[in-house]
Amino acid sequence: MKIKSVRGTHDLLPESVALWQKIEAEARGVFQLYGYEEVRTPILERSELFARSIGAESDIVQKEMYTFSDSKGNTICLRPEGTAPVVRAYLEHGLDHDGLIHKLYYIGPMFRHERPQKGRYRQFHQVGVEVLGSDHPALEAEVIEMLERFLHKLGVKGLRLLLNSVGCAKCRPAYVKVLQEELNKRQDELCPQCQRRSTTNPLRVLDCKVPACQPVIDELPSILDYLCDNCRQHLEKLRSYLDLQEISYEVTPRLVRGLDYYVGTTFEMVSSELGPTQNAVVGGGRYDGLSELLGGPPGKGFGFALGIERLVVLLEDTLDSRRPRPDVFLAYLDEGALKESFGLAQELRHQGVFAYIDFQERSLKAQMRLANRLGSRFTCIIGEDEIQSGQFPLKRMEDGHQVTLDREAIASYVIEDGVTTS
Ligand SMILES: [Zn+2]
Ligand SMILES: [Zn+2]
Repeated sequence: MKIKSVRGTHDLLPESVALWQKIEAEARGVFQLYGYEEVRTPILERSELFARSIGAESDIVQKEMYTFSDSKGNTICLRPEGTAPVVRAYLEHGLDHDGLIHKLYYIGPMFRHERPQKGRYRQFHQVGVEVLGSDHPALEAEVIEMLERFLHKLGVKGLRLLLNSVGCAKCRPAYVKVLQEELNKRQDELCPQCQRRSTTNPLRVLDCKVPACQPVIDELPSILDYLCDNCRQHLEKLRSYLDLQEISYEVTPRLVRGLDYYVGTTFEMVSSELGPTQNAVVGGGRYDGLSELLGGPPGKGFGFALGIERLVVLLEDTLDSRRPRPDVFLAYLDEGALKESFGLAQELRHQGVFAYIDFQERSLKAQMRLANRLGSRFTCIIGEDEIQSGQFPLKRMEDGHQVTLDREAIASYVIEDGVTTS
């Protein structure tokens, strides 16, 4: 029996990788203009990192993390998300001591042992941004503007920005209390999960996507009515900076995060093209409480994580994923000509020309068929005569136009033709 890939993982074949590379290249290009630098943290982390940040009782840590013991008895896991590792690295390397704002981004795989569904994988990939060391609302607006710029450059359309504040340690507890009281009155209208969360983590009821819960959720009190002056002003300032950048948003009071280390701003970008429930492409927010949970001093952090697989769903139809075409296909008549082609190909490649040779020693006709299939821009047929004379026939496939060139002139001819025609 053939061995198959692990359930919940997927191979990216070359025609898909083209799109992934484009996404990664646009991310790097755009983020750099805003002063962001890439950070690469290990895929392996101590499980404790996520037990402390996301919570030992959370579904992620309890059920979804790939956890194992190494030979020394350390409990190690495959990272389920990217923020805690970045903050760990920031603290571990003392980046918090230099008084600077650190603007970091990462691109890479995350792992969660969830039930695989369409668009949801056990190894999934994220582009994430974290800005550490400031809580200025303009910086949040800048991150959101950068994210929009990136998505716009990729050609993603129809995304809506949802914005909210989840309050702080000062104002949130009062809201949670009112929320809990309200939920207690309406237990029998809620789904089983919401009934449980009403006591364990009432804020998470607001995320519930079960249709039966929606009328109840719509009538719950809004966190916006409970924000303290600081939180209210912060949200107002953020909105004014977004307005300055002409970024539209919808204030969505039910957009919350169920973790205590989140304070203030949260946001999401959603697309109706992804369906009614798993419709978020990006989730982000402020997580000032995280540094202390990880044993650091009080800190400031804001960021987002974007699911590449979901982005790919939105872009699949719009991008040209054709494979690169050879510039020159070198066809040979015999073994001597193959040797000549082999050397010529090397010279062409050193000059930046994509040269292709079919090594199957087939007929000229078969070689030309392959050249066509690959969409080669030029072909060059090499035999004894060409080797003797040092003159090579270069045929442009598009229109059959043929020139005869010295061996050394081929590369520049191909490069110049590419410049004038494309
Ligand atoms: Zn507050
Ligand atoms: Zn529910």
